[in-house]
Amino acid sequence: MDTVTYLVKLGELTLKGSNLKEFEKRLVHNVQLYLETVSARVQLRAGRMYIDCPEESCKAVEFTLQHLIGITGWARTQVCEKNIESMTEAVYEQALKAKENGAKTFKIEARRSEKQFSLNSYDICREAASKVFDTGLLAVDVHNPDVTIRIEVRERCFVYNDTNKGCRGLPVGTAGKGLLLLSGGLDSPVAGYRMMRRGMKVECCYFHAYPYTSVEAQKKVEDLAQIIAQYGVETHINIIPFTEVQMRIKEISRTFTWPVDLSNEKDVRTGIRINTNPEAYSTLLLRMCMMRAASLVAKHIKAQCLITGESLGQVASQTMENMEVTESACELPLFRPLIGLDKEEIIITAKTIGSYETSILPYEDCCVLFSPKHPVLRARLQEAQMLYDALDCDALIKESFEKREVKMFSARNYVAEHFGTNN
Ligand code: ATP
Ligand code: MG
Repeated sequence: MDTVTYLVKLGELTLKGSNLKEFEKRLVHNVQLYLETVSARVQLRAGRMYIDCPEESCKAVEFTLQHLIGITGWARTQVCEKNIESMTEAVYEQALKAKENGAKTFKIEARRSEKQFSLNSYDICREAASKVFDTGLLAVDVHNPDVTIRIEVRERCFVYNDTNKGCRGLPVGTAGKGLLLLSGGLDSPVAGYRMMRRGMKVECCYFHAYPYTSVEAQKKVEDLAQIIAQYGVETHINIIPFTEVQMRIKEISRTFTWPVDLSNEKDVRTGIRINTNPEAYSTLLLRMCMMRAASLVAKHIKAQCLITGESLGQVASQTMENMEVTESACELPLFRPLIGLDKEEIIITAKTIGSYETSILPYEDCCVLFSPKHPVLRARLQEAQMLYDALDCDALIKESFEKREVKMFSARNYVAEHFGTNN
């Protein structure tokens, strides 16, 4: 049976000096996890990765290469013998395919990393083009060709014309572990993807308020966790029941009275009068409780930071002042990779990674159901802290952490289910 060979170009790895070996090892390990259930052979040589597989594994391999973080590009190649006759034939075959797809003009680009090979790159281009040129199959156009046929002479010789873009970034697992607060919205999956692209392994947690939030809302977040796993090799979602915490916040916002007179208080930094409606703080209190609970999960799974999808000014809870309050309840570094992006930019990435369609499904998030009509816009830490202390909900938070449910999603299982051959 014919073997297909994919040629994969590694990303930023080429820049990473002494870390290079570790990064390459991790990349190969990641690919092997994706492809654990299909037959394929992965090799790394001189800054290139090769994947050899039978035709029936091609869909699995192509899925993997479309999602694998740490590569800049890849191509399905035709392998030929290392002599100019074989190359000329292979180029001709590629040109035939290109013509079938409507190409009229072509050029050849050759690379020769094997310097012993008798011809230089220029001669390879000239000679390998001869059959296409002499038969008039395609015309040469070196400036704006319809198709560029590439030849790489290495320990084997590869001929190909379609190059696909890779996800770039650093291989997942080379930059620590973070816990993503994954809601059903557009932002948090994109935030997770951004961190994975920097090499971070991303685990997830989701707060739900059953029966106020539906089973469908949870299913939607699990589908998003599956997308995170497609890029991140594997992820676990910690589903944390937060109904009781939410009820407690609701109760406090009805019954709380300030222990001090705030009627003439202004924030010294903003000069704005203090909001004295306890209900206005409820979203922020929920955020603080989430940070506490997520910190417990993170410590338990040895994650080194929390990640959210917040973006400055996007909603009331994401003003500078309110984010300061949220962060005060977080016991680890908090990363907000979308902080300087606008919604349009976030949507572009959501569409690219395939989370958009799921994120826009209409199931309500828990925060929406409990959100106040007029949320505080510029909370001051002192008042938020007073309310938070009045909640007295450390025990409730610990309980919700202990009652969490954990589900695992992996690229390996996805590949096995959708494209598997040996399972
Ligand atoms: P997203 O699009 O990610 O839902 P958003 O624009 O709706 O964000 P908020 O609802 O204010 O903004 O949430 C801000 C961030 O807080 C989210 O990006 C997410 O990281 C976290 N978050 C909010 N709700 C939840 C939840 N129910 N479970 C886990 N994390 C949450
Ligand atoms: Mg949301």
